[in-house]
Amino acid sequence: MNCNLCPRMCGARRSIRPGFCGLGEEMVIARIAPHLWEEPPVSGTHGTGAVFFSGCTLRCVYCQNGEISHTGAGKVFSPLELSEALKRLTDLGMQTISFITGTPFVPRILDALSLWRPPLPLVWNTSGYERVETLRMLEGAVDVYLPDLKHFSSRMGQLCARAPDYFEAASAAIREMCRQTGPCRYDDQGIMTRGVLVRHLILPGLTGESMKLLTWIRDELPAGTPVSLMRQYIPCNHVSVPGLDRRITEKEYRRVRDHMQLLGLPGFLQEPDSADAGFIPVFNQKESFV
Ligand code: SF4
Repeated sequence: MNCNLCPRMCGARRSIRPGFCGLGEEMVIARIAPHLWEEPPVSGTHGTGAVFFSGCTLRCVYCQNGEISHTGAGKVFSPLELSEALKRLTDLGMQTISFITGTPFVPRILDALSLWRPPLPLVWNTSGYERVETLRMLEGAVDVYLPDLKHFSSRMGQLCARAPDYFEAASAAIREMCRQTGPCRYDDQGIMTRGVLVRHLILPGLTGESMKLLTWIRDELPAGTPVSLMRQYIPCNHVSVPGLDRRITEKEYRRVRDHMQLLGLPGFLQEPDSADAGFIPVFNQKESFV
């Protein structure tokens, strides 16, 4: 079957050759393990059971997980093996389950969930580069969406990810996520049980893009949609886009943070010491799998 799961719609017959995402037909996973470094409503105090799928539909030039997004490193899992891993994560006392960049494997993920559905909020952690049609396949299975909203201009979408339609696709996708979940809901431990939490990573020299995206969130998404403003950009993969070869400055961070506060957006601000390569998970090693 030809794959059109993401906005690339490259139509690859993945049983014969991989698509833009670099993936064949088999479900490949680079890490299944407890993860403590998401936002508090996702990680809680015990962690989210994080499943990092290999490959990526966006493949940003600066991706800090380039080892899996660009090279597709990982192990092949069947739906049954994934469902068994989800049971192990649940038994470890995780407070949520997170599927990270799972878009190319949506049918197999749904197969795994039909075998066993964890009794925990299911979080779909995504670059935001999604098709509404594919998201509709997830309706009723996913409780919480955690999309990035990365680029406003098609020029930056093209430069960073060869996706000039990034904003067009991501803005439609995030609206669909909000429609599916309705307003955010939390349990008595502050864990999000329904809703959408939008992430934005500030890029060096691009505070104007950040501010336009935050204004769009205020104007277009339901009031109260929380935002996680991230400052941890680290130049990775010998990034070749001019200007992206440095971390953001304190002045850049404050400019965007002040704009978010002026807009009255609720959400989360990251600590300064989060821009540390030590927070990047280890992939595809023995200790990467529960
Ligand atoms: S998921 Fe991969 S193969 Fe499918 S349309 Fe997107 S890039 Fe192409």
